[in-house]
Amino acid sequence: MILYNTLTGDKQEFVPYEGNRVRMYTCGPTVYHYAHIGNLRTYIMEDVLEKYLRYAGYDVTRVMNITDVGHLSSDADTGEDKMLSGAKREHKSVMDIARFYTDAFFSDCEKLNIKTPDIVDPATNCIQEFITMVQTLIDKGYAYLSGGNVYFDTSKLDNYYVFGNMREDELQVGVREDVTEDTSKRNKTDFVLWFTKSKFDDQELKWESPWGLGYPGWHIECSSISIKHLGEHLDIHCGGIDNAFPHHTNEIAQSEAYLGHKWCGYWFHVLHLLDRRGKMSKSKGGFLTVSLLEEKGYDPLAYRLFCLQSHYRKPLTFSFENLDNAQQTYEKLRRRVALLSEDGDPDMASAQPYLDRFKEALDNDLNTSMGVTALYDVLKAPLTDATKRAVVAAFDSVLSLDLLRPVEEDAPSVDVDRIEALIAERTRARADRDWATADRIRDELMAMGVVIKDSKDGVSWELR
Ligand code: AMP
Ligand code: ZN
Repeated sequence: MILYNTLTGDKQEFVPYEGNRVRMYTCGPTVYHYAHIGNLRTYIMEDVLEKYLRYAGYDVTRVMNITDVGHLSSDADTGEDKMLSGAKREHKSVMDIARFYTDAFFSDCEKLNIKTPDIVDPATNCIQEFITMVQTLIDKGYAYLSGGNVYFDTSKLDNYYVFGNMREDELQVGVREDVTEDTSKRNKTDFVLWFTKSKFDDQELKWESPWGLGYPGWHIECSSISIKHLGEHLDIHCGGIDNAFPHHTNEIAQSEAYLGHKWCGYWFHVLHLLDRRGKMSKSKGGFLTVSLLEEKGYDPLAYRLFCLQSHYRKPLTFSFENLDNAQQTYEKLRRRVALLSEDGDPDMASAQPYLDRFKEALDNDLNTSMGVTALYDVLKAPLTDATKRAVVAAFDSVLSLDLLRPVEEDAPSVDVDRIEALIAERTRARADRDWATADRIRDELMAMGVVIKDSKDGVSWELR
């Protein structure tokens, strides 16, 4: 498989560190609010990557954290604590909102057919591991105490800006300008590993540490949780593009300083979902959630299809008009699949060119929109219904659009026998030069949503 790697800035053959095993890590949600459909774009595309790697025969283990402490409103360690401001907003405790929004996140994921990673670990469950890692960084001379906090000293590294191919403005997407610089830092790019001297006197969650009562910085979470569960060599680290800097840059700095060797081979970043105001974001408010789409009558999987129809490395602009199109396409696709007869055995040898086309698409830097096109090719192909069903099921193990789920009662039902009887009647009418009857039947079929095409090989039909 060829994957774009943000670390090198080009597409590369994906080769795991150890044979067939793939160790994959995903930055989990910060659970101070509902996930918006932008966040979920990232999780959908990561889910497809994981499922495709499994489809391609890899043995994947995927780990995700839950950020329930330490993430400040600027990714550069300044501003308000996101969890604390969420708790204040709702007059609840931090742990209450963490629990509530973690459950809400997984419920959204379920609706979007996003598989739960093999291991999910909340940051508040790993405090001892963070303390051990911070202590090792101090012992190795990579971290220092200043103003009560522990900082990572970025001047100790030969190359801090690892994603060197990215432009400065791209690197800055996660950093807000409107926050004051922390004067305890030795270098502008240094970052907090452990806070003790918090400006938040009412900080609810604090733990004892060798440096005093405090709480971890956000970046240390992901390095530490990844190493805890996946060991010293990570194959793929995923996240939205806003996490590339400073979050992932800092993760690489501290993980490699801690381990003493290269840590992660491939960095997979999903570009943003945009709305009229630019990047959809929780802090700006006014964002869209899966529940809101459902209230408006959309199937969450139509949103999944909307995401799959574009490449993960291109920004994607959301509009209801675009979602309407995706919803129509989705319904039509499911109705077409529902028409396939369940009788007979599949002939997979005849399906090989279509399976190859799908693999070729996904092998090419996860080209999901070409993968969806390959699905259409199968439905149009001269294959038996049983074979088409088997191929659709195979593709759907990656695309996860529930294509074989029976079409609901309230959806317009398609009576294939009736359609074919009408087409035969129309063919007879045309042979008898009874154009009025032929036209009447065509109109009747049109009203049923059936479009017929006459060609020299006969009559074919499809649903509108
Ligand atoms: P957060 O809950 O803010 O920690 O973000 C969860 C994930 O969503 C991270 O991987 C972010 O990079 C990603 N993300 C945030 N905003 C967007 C967006 N508008 N489009 C796509 N991904 C996003
Ligand atoms: Zn992370």
